[in-house]
Amino acid sequence: MENCLFCKILRGEIPSSRVYEDENVYAFRDINPQAPVHVLIIPKAHLTSADEIVADNAALVAAVFTAIPKIAAAEGLTNGYRVITNVGEDGAQSVKHLHFHLLGGKKLPESMA
Ligand code: AMP
Repeated sequence: MENCLFCKILRGEIPSSRVYEDENVYAFRDINPQAPVHVLIIPKAHLTSADEIVADNAALVAAVFTAIPKIAAAEGLTNGYRVITNVGEDGAQSVKHLHFHLLGGKKLPESMA
C-alpha cells in the first residue's frame, strides 16, 4: 500500500528499530513507548486491521503469534507481557496496517480501557 506508514517502514522508506524479522513478519520498537518494552509486530502483507481477518489470511496472524513468544523471550519478558491490537476509530487505531503491540518490562495496569 503506497501511503501506508508501516508499508513504508517495510520498504525501508522510513527508518525503524528492527527487533525481529522473518518471511511473513516484521517487528520494531514503537516510536512512543508506553512501557519499558513496546514492540510493534506486523504482517508484511497489508491488512487494515484485525477486522479484515478471515480464514484465507489467518496464516498471517498465526505467523505473527508464532513470532511473539520468540520476541518476548529475546526482550527478556520472562514474567509476562500484554499483546494488544486496536481496531478502527473506537479502538483508537492510528495506523491502518494490522499491528500488535507487545508491552512489558513492568507490572502493567490491570485496567484495559
Ligand atoms: P495504534 O494507535 O494502535 O494504531 O498504534 C500505532 C503505533 O504506531 C503507536 O503506538 C505509535 O507510537 C506507533 N508509531 C507511529 N509511527 C511510528 C514509527 N515511525 N515508528 C515506530 N512506531 C510508530
